[in-house]
Amino acid sequence: MLASGGRKSLAALLQARKGLFQPSRDMRLVQFQAPHLTGPHLGLESGSGEGIINLSAFDSTLPKTMMQFLEQGEAALSVARRALTAPLPVLPRSEVTLLAPVTRPDKVVCVGMNYADHCKEQNVSVPKEPIIFSKFASSIVGPYDEIVLPPESQEVDWEVELAVVIGKKGKHIKATDAMAHVAGFTVAHDVSARDWQMRRNGRQWLLGKTFDTFCPLGPALVTRDSVADPHNLKICCRVNGEVVQSSNTNQMVFKTEELIAWISRFVTFYPGDVILTGTPPGVGVFRKPPVFLQKGDEVQCEIEGLGVLVNKVV
Ligand code: ZN
Repeated sequence: MLASGGRKSLAALLQARKGLFQPSRDMRLVQFQAPHLTGPHLGLESGSGEGIINLSAFDSTLPKTMMQFLEQGEAALSVARRALTAPLPVLPRSEVTLLAPVTRPDKVVCVGMNYADHCKEQNVSVPKEPIIFSKFASSIVGPYDEIVLPPESQEVDWEVELAVVIGKKGKHIKATDAMAHVAGFTVAHDVSARDWQMRRNGRQWLLGKTFDTFCPLGPALVTRDSVADPHNLKICCRVNGEVVQSSNTNQMVFKTEELIAWISRFVTFYPGDVILTGTPPGVGVFRKPPVFLQKGDEVQCEIEGLGVLVNKVV
């Protein structure tokens, strides 16, 4: 912030200085449950990340689900923004259960082969247009929930992905307008049954991608204005502590804006819709020999500045 004379005002200097020592004021929206509250609630991760602020306790007119919150658009967002700096009680992490930041979106749209380095791993050229598939919303689970291995598959694999959450309805959205339709970003795990994705079901990817629990999401929806550049974030996946995927979202072939423009040629986007933007190299199926998830494994999917999913495989 510059004072009218072009020099930094004292207030701005103090604010900047405070920023060095204060926890970040990024807006990290969560859905959570707590024993003393009925049903899901909307919250904010506190600045230092040690707990959750209940947004209903700040303003009882705010909706209790992310879908309703996003439908209210900027009006609800600006109320939540005020809560960031209000002196509010913080619920300790140990007392809340985090749900996925979006639980029942109208749709989960996924993008295949969208990392240049992932294409290289498969020895194929990058696609000329986005490859789109989907998962049902019923596959979404929370950031620390279990991934259930279905008896139907022997080849369940990991895929860490940057997820875009839509905040504003739109069709035929121009790439130049696309970011205005984004509410924020979160981490997704596109769990994939390779046998069903690649060989069964007439090679339609759907069934292999959409078993129950195959879409861990969260922990927070980090609002668009809190992410400096979504296309320059470290992205990684660890299985039992071992790094199996490690890349950067700058490897994405089609960026968020192009994806929204492309997909909205076909379908209307609604608030809460989720786009999984593709995975970097290092998935189990292309390893030699291939490796798949086993009962007891723990998968961590992490994106710089967004957070980490920790899901046990059962
Ligand atoms: Zn994927």
